[in-house]
Amino acid sequence: MNSAIVAELQAIVGPRMFCLGRRISALTNTRVSGPRSSGSRVFPFSTDDVSRIVQTRGKHDVPIVGRGAGTGLSGGALARGGGMMIAFGRMNRHFGMDLENRRAVVQPGVL
Ligand SMILES: Cc1cc2nc3c(=O)[nH]c(=O)nc-3n(C[C@H](O)[C@H](O)[C@H](O)COP(=O)(O)OP(=O)(O)OC[C@H]3O[C@@H](n4cnc5c(N)ncnc54)[C@H](O)[C@@H]3O)c2cc1C
Repeated sequence: MNSAIVAELQAIVGPRMFCLGRRISALTNTRVSGPRSSGSRVFPFSTDDVSRIVQTRGKHDVPIVGRGAGTGLSGGALARGGGMMIAFGRMNRHFGMDLENRRAVVQPGVL
């Protein structure tokens, strides 16, 4: 990943909420399975962050994958081969509950 896109992404989410390669496990204290040295991870806080991240990756042609809680059983949330994972863990707000219809409006990081 070139330094230009790294600088743009860090300008969106802040230097601590974007990490590359081995810094992923150190920063996020998570066991990153698969190829540790490739890929990057970005932690948006808002829908606007996500929109700007997706536009930025479009300019630099970087593949992306979303990650909610990472409990999927097929490895779909892993960014392989230089891709970037958009991890939604910080987007964990609730906007409304409709108990009668069993509906909740929440952000993608809500468990
Ligand atoms: C013990 C266990 C029991 C389970 N039981 C069930 C069950 O009963 N029923 C069931 O359906 N599943 C079950 N699952 C599978 C899994 O929990 C569900 O599929 C769950 O909905 C995955 O949510 P997640 O946030 O963890 O997704 P993740 O693993 O983070 O992602 C799963 C896929 O969705 C994509 N994705 C995630 N968030 C977004 C987003 N905001 N925008 C776009 N793409 C996104 C990812 O890229 C990936 O491809 C189980 C898993 C475990 C470990």
